[in-house]
Amino acid sequence: MENKNKKTCYVTTPIYYASGNVHIGNSYSTIVCDVFARYNRLKGIDTFFLTGMDEHGQKIEEAAKKAGKSPQEMVNDIAKSTKELWKNLNITNDDFIQTSEIRHTEVVQQLFEKMLKNKDIYLGYYEGDYCVACEAYFTKTQVGEECICPDCGKPTRKVKEESYFLNLKKYSNRLLKYIEENPDFIQPESRKNEVVSFIEQGLEDLCVSRTSFKWGIPVLSNPRHVIYVWIDALCNYITALGYGSKDETLYNKFWLNGDEVVHVVGKDILRFHAIYWPIILMALDIPIKFKLYAHGWVLMKEGKMSKSVGNIIYPLDVTKRYGLDPLRYYLTREMPLGNDCLFSYDRFIERYNTDLANDLGNLLSRTIAMINKYFDGVVIKPKEKSDTFATELENLSKEVINNYNENFSNFRFQNGLTEVWSLISRANKYIDETTPWILAKDEDKKAELNSVMYHLYEVLRLVAIMVMPVMPDTSKIMFEEMGVLPENQAFDSLEYGKTSDVKVVTKPIVLFKRLDLVEEQKYHQEKNVAKKEEAPTKNEISIEDFSKIDLRVAEVIEASKMEGSDKLLILKVKIDDKPRQIISGISEFYAPLDLVGKKIVVVANLKPVKIRGHLSEGMILTASSSKNSLEVIQILKENNFAKIS
Ligand SMILES: [Zn+2]
Repeated sequence: MENKNKKTCYVTTPIYYASGNVHIGNSYSTIVCDVFARYNRLKGIDTFFLTGMDEHGQKIEEAAKKAGKSPQEMVNDIAKSTKELWKNLNITNDDFIQTSEIRHTEVVQQLFEKMLKNKDIYLGYYEGDYCVACEAYFTKTQVGEECICPDCGKPTRKVKEESYFLNLKKYSNRLLKYIEENPDFIQPESRKNEVVSFIEQGLEDLCVSRTSFKWGIPVLSNPRHVIYVWIDALCNYITALGYGSKDETLYNKFWLNGDEVVHVVGKDILRFHAIYWPIILMALDIPIKFKLYAHGWVLMKEGKMSKSVGNIIYPLDVTKRYGLDPLRYYLTREMPLGNDCLFSYDRFIERYNTDLANDLGNLLSRTIAMINKYFDGVVIKPKEKSDTFATELENLSKEVINNYNENFSNFRFQNGLTEVWSLISRANKYIDETTPWILAKDEDKKAELNSVMYHLYEVLRLVAIMVMPVMPDTSKIMFEEMGVLPENQAFDSLEYGKTSDVKVVTKPIVLFKRLDLVEEQKYHQEKNVAKKEEAPTKNEISIEDFSKIDLRVAEVIEASKMEGSDKLLILKVKIDDKPRQIISGISEFYAPLDLVGKKIVVVANLKPVKIRGHLSEGMILTASSSKNSLEVIQILKENNFAKIS
């Protein structure tokens, strides 16, 4: 239901980790929050929109060291470029918080002390396998005998350290009760069930400090420890509002007495927001005012975006070629709340051509052209009653406006936009039904023709208002083209028949120029090749480094898939007549039988490791080819190959 009494709205994106450039996935979260913030403001609701950066941790400390900067310098640089990006994407955030700012760190220190005093936080020991890259601890079963991070595949480190813990157990029943009593707390429903079953399995107390690195907020009463990630990161939602500072005006207005607080999170961080954050608030005796909207990931055809696959799309790649509004539209339209969405240029171009160039763009240019041709560009509100077709269009408009509001106020933008486009389609059909070009031939039908023009005009005006939160620039151009008076551009004029007399522009512009699919595909292919050529080479090594590698020719005797793995093959090879076993992650690219009998190149002096319980004594040389695939390096003429050592 749309909450008609809502007076304030506070909406937040996750704070992004300050470790690199923001790609299209993070941009999605920020764009949908922006759509929500704009929608609420247009509805006259006092809205505060927060985004920011999560800036502490070992990974950042190490990255800064590598870059020859202080961690503070590094995160400031990243914050600066991220702010710039949001400006380019027309994001209307009211604040941008960096967790290294004093307004945040000082308050977090106080909150930590408070929880310590109340015994919600206690000192203990943590022992575990830790992945630096992922900044996460894993259990023995997760890392296996080889101590490999299950998320990124890098080796984990054994760590035992003194650590503070947040007592989650104490609050888990209260949290379950809260979730049960507040059915809107976690949306969509499917995600809520995941969280509930996770809590029901029993919560382990959460480790909330570290002594193994320095780049974090020191614990006030024991500065050997820095406060580790979740208490630090999650509290940004209230420190940004001035909670715990001298001026708590914003906190009082938007949180304590606020009508709606929305945290938008990706599904990968839902658990932290649905469990740790409410428990932290309970421990601090702060009311849980927020609800969570969990969204999926923006996937590529090849799966998740990743640097190693080379399929990351940055938002400016898209906006530079196609403009900003089409990107905002695509992401808002394609992603159903809670599910993943696919980003592919083919799909993007299809949507662009169908929805924007054809349906919306043509309706606007045709209507303006006809108003010019038949009435010298003047639209006058008809005096007579509407005919059947027009009444149908009016009724549909009313229905669409209601559904649009219902959907947009509940973060279901995809459904909301589908509604708007159903009205656009109906208006296009209305032109075919009323055949204005035939009416124009008959002087007696002048009034009828005027009524048709008026109805088309009003539909376009309503559409221009409804797309405002998603495509603000497009909406503005539409208003200009149609000569819509300022008072008829606002959300409270979202009603059929508000226009009396107006004049449209003489010559309509092309709102969205149609794209040629083949030409665009060619462009992206060429760009991909260029991108790969530009890809930075790794750190230089000396000839001495290289000479340590013992490369040998090996013949594959046997090859089989490793049970339970999609990626790994077990190869039995012979080097100088001696048998060896090598595990290789090439199962996606080679059928085992194709390798048998082949002569390949092997790094023979690699330290043996156990991979999933199988011994691997060496590594097969492969090279990546242009199609994101791997090719095993083969020996064609053995005699021509000399050993390097
Ligand atoms: Zn990892």
